[in-house]
Amino acid sequence: MRTDNSFIRPSILDKLAECGHYRSEPDAGPAAERGTRIDVLFRSLIATSGMPMPDDADPEEWENAQWAVRRARELSDGSPIDATEDGCAVEVAGLLPRLITGTMDALCAGQLWSADLKSGQARSYEAQQALYAMGCMDRFFCDEWTVFILYCDLRSVHTYRYTYESAAEVVNNALSRWRGGEQPRVNDYCGWCANRLTCEARRESLGHWLAPTGLDADPGLVLANVASPKLVAFVNLYRAMESFDYEAREILKARRLAGEEIPGVKTIAKRGTRRVDAVHLIDPIQAGTVDLGEALLAIGQLTESKVRKLWPAVPDDLIFEAPGRVELHVSQPNKPTTKPKQLTKH
Ligand code: SF4
Repeated sequence: MRTDNSFIRPSILDKLAECGHYRSEPDAGPAAERGTRIDVLFRSLIATSGMPMPDDADPEEWENAQWAVRRARELSDGSPIDATEDGCAVEVAGLLPRLITGTMDALCAGQLWSADLKSGQARSYEAQQALYAMGCMDRFFCDEWTVFILYCDLRSVHTYRYTYESAAEVVNNALSRWRGGEQPRVNDYCGWCANRLTCEARRESLGHWLAPTGLDADPGLVLANVASPKLVAFVNLYRAMESFDYEAREILKARRLAGEEIPGVKTIAKRGTRRVDAVHLIDPIQAGTVDLGEALLAIGQLTESKVRKLWPAVPDDLIFEAPGRVELHVSQPNKPTTKPKQLTKH
């Protein structure tokens, strides 16, 4: 049974629910830093409605924050929203020998909800938000709590609803995986785990997948110690496999839909996203029921080439360049040519 709980924060709970050995990296990566910047803009915008974009803000991050503020205000139905760090501080007693503390992104006590702003793809935040819900239900003496996840890149909102019992069950399940001391379980968060370079379970799983390829399947393999030519082979192998991933998935989907039982595979029917064609906003804008500025912000940025093509007279100083990045290109050996071979006449 483990006792060191010093690393346990709300944000690690969903990872612990997958693997009790998960540990966070000490330094936030670029994606987390971007999320923090959007978060700061979101808090500022909630506090100061109508605030202009700060000079050092990234326009895309600014739009993301503005979208999240608009959604939060819609969900508040006119009740005040608190996005201050002090107002959104949460603490929950009784789960560990110490308090578990955290900070939500927004709190609307009048409507009994809190919200967290998330960038990137959708993931499960059920355990983290369950902990926040417990703290809020304690604080506001209520039995039910709603949490909205504002996915600012995806422009979508996910809703969690908890009773005190359901929230406590989710959090305790995550903590019991850490307490239980069971073996590491490979999962979708492994790539972020501080143990990922040395974790034996992960290496075994790598070896398991590499074995049929004949590539080195040594479970003790540490990528940082592998010679460069072998790493190039690894990158090429991954790329080759990735390029067949879609096809393999489509075949599996067709087989499942045809009724084949495949262990570990299931199909989930998802509703299509409901959308509005931007052109249909013209009438509501002219009628004054949709604000033109808000509509333009929601539609987002356009590429320079598109703007130049549509409106050649747009002034140069409106064009800005998003930060570039350094990319690694690994050339593929023996790449099959797509051109048919020339036949030699005899
Ligand atoms: S890398 Fe290992 S310890 Fe980390 S989450 Fe994956 S299985 Fe668990």
